Amino acid sequence: MKKVINDIIVVGAGASSLSFLHSLVNKVKPNEHFNIIVIDKDRDYGCGNAYKDDVSTNLLNTKAGYITIDKEQKGDFFNWLKKNESNWRSEFSDLEITVDSYLPRPLFGAYMRDKFDTLIKDSLAKNVRISTVKGEVVNVQKISNLKYTTHLSCGLKLESNVVILATGTSFLTKDVCKLNDNIFNSPYPLKKRIGQIDQNDSVLIIGARLSAIDTIVALKDNGHKGKITVHSRSSTFPCVRGTQDRYLNQFLNINYIEQNNIKINIENLKALFDKEMANYLKENSNVELANESFAIKNCVVGSFKEYLLNELEMASKPRPWQAILYDTNLILSYIWNLLADDERKLFMKSHLSHAMAMRVSIPELNARKLVNYIDEGNLEFISGSCVVETSAANEIKCTLNGNEQVYDKVIYATGSPRDLTHSDSILFRNLNDSEIIGNNEYGGISVCKNTFQVLTNNGHVNEGLFALGEITNGTHLFNSALDIIVSHSSKCSELVLSKISA
Ligand SMILES: Cc1cc2nc3c(=O)[nH]c(=O)nc-3n(C[C@H](O)[C@H](O)[C@H](O)COP(=O)(O)OP(=O)(O)OC[C@H]3O[C@@H](n4cnc5c(N)ncnc54)[C@H](O)[C@@H]3O)c2cc1C
Repeated sequence: MKKVINDIIVVGAGASSLSFLHSLVNKVKPNEHFNIIVIDKDRDYGCGNAYKDDVSTNLLNTKAGYITIDKEQKGDFFNWLKKNESNWRSEFSDLEITVDSYLPRPLFGAYMRDKFDTLIKDSLAKNVRISTVKGEVVNVQKISNLKYTTHLSCGLKLESNVVILATGTSFLTKDVCKLNDNIFNSPYPLKKRIGQIDQNDSVLIIGARLSAIDTIVALKDNGHKGKITVHSRSSTFPCVRGTQDRYLNQFLNINYIEQNNIKINIENLKALFDKEMANYLKENSNVELANESFAIKNCVVGSFKEYLLNELEMASKPRPWQAILYDTNLILSYIWNLLADDERKLFMKSHLSHAMAMRVSIPELNARKLVNYIDEGNLEFISGSCVVETSAANEIKCTLNGNEQVYDKVIYATGSPRDLTHSDSILFRNLNDSEIIGNNEYGGISVCKNTFQVLTNNGHVNEGLFALGEITNGTHLFNSALDIIVSHSSKCSELVLSKISA
């Protein structure tokens, strides 16, 4: 039997995959034709893990008018909502839609699913055939420079010239978090978790970023009465999003940095930030801004309620630093790759948690809910060390800063493990063993920063193996925002086309 060699296999059907395919199809020339296979563990193509059909209290942290899968179409999601209201309104009957709303992520998932289906249909007219396969990819083997075999857990093997790893978030292994019926390595899907947790259970949530907040809100919205403890190792907690509009950085951008030969180091970045802030204040001198120190913020929680109330007060007005930080999204990888190694290490050790708390902020609505839960008396915030153990009687003992406490349920809301040997992804553990990938010391796998090609553990370039999204965080520092993902996917599609068209 003749072997079929596909041009491209994409592992994963979330935002990275969809934005990659979207920009690739748009770049295909009239005389070209390609065969592409998209493989996902779930049959729910397009939405990925972040925007799955789950509880509607899972909110986007980007305003409806700004978030889009198509960088050429500003406001695409918002326009889609208006055009397709009859398709989603019955499920979200009370939802008020404005460009400034922070809408439920499952609604964004419906948009992504529709975009994926439309892309599959439209791409045929461009001689691109995209087929989908439901299955878990467990390994990718290199046959030659532009020939790979992708192995699925069901035994299926597929050959292609190029493989794109777009697998998103993975979770801690069973061993690392001592999984059992009462310990969960992920909050999602929250619809399922809620059913697994009794309303009177005491719950420890490990991690204090967006997925921890999703979990608290979903539990409480479902009438949870037991104690909920949220644990942050670094004592930091996300900031609340202010009312500012977008701002175009004048100094913290590649043109200014290169034209002025500015060496990238933490001190110079702080100076550029201060300069940017001064410019923002000048441009907005007639606007009443949040009355806060304009230096890099301290997001450490002392009293949880006081922290949130202060954040809510600041967030009732425009917060210049948020507008400036947002506009650095697309140059983060550039900056990160120019920082000296000792500064990168210092950043990871001393600044990362603060930076994430500032960068990945929460909508005001969720912060208000948290304040109410604190007032009701069953939400607490703790920080410091945390060790989880299960006794022979299946009791969960958590040692928090040396004090032992017993919980009925523990939920890890810590996101992808930076160390791949702790990841529950069979695919990445197999790739790690086969040496086709190399671990990045700052997390995930090493990829070439400009081409997105995966580097082997000897630092060699895999000609036809590419990676996008969270797994490349060590190379790009931060990928967990749709605009970054869309930008990386678009660049990656150019290179992939140049490889398979050659
Ligand atoms: C909870 C959450 C909320 C977020 N909210 C926002 C937001 O509001 N705004 C914003 O800009 N960004 C947000 N993000 C950032 C988000 O990471 C990106 O916007 C984007 O959705 C990530 O897409 P992805 O395709 O890289 O990964 P994912 O969406 O995780 O998709 C990866 C896909 O790969 C599949 N997969 C994984 N491994 C395999 C395998 N071995 N075989 C087959 N299939 C596999 C998974 O089933 C999944 O469908 C959020 C992220 C998370 C996790």
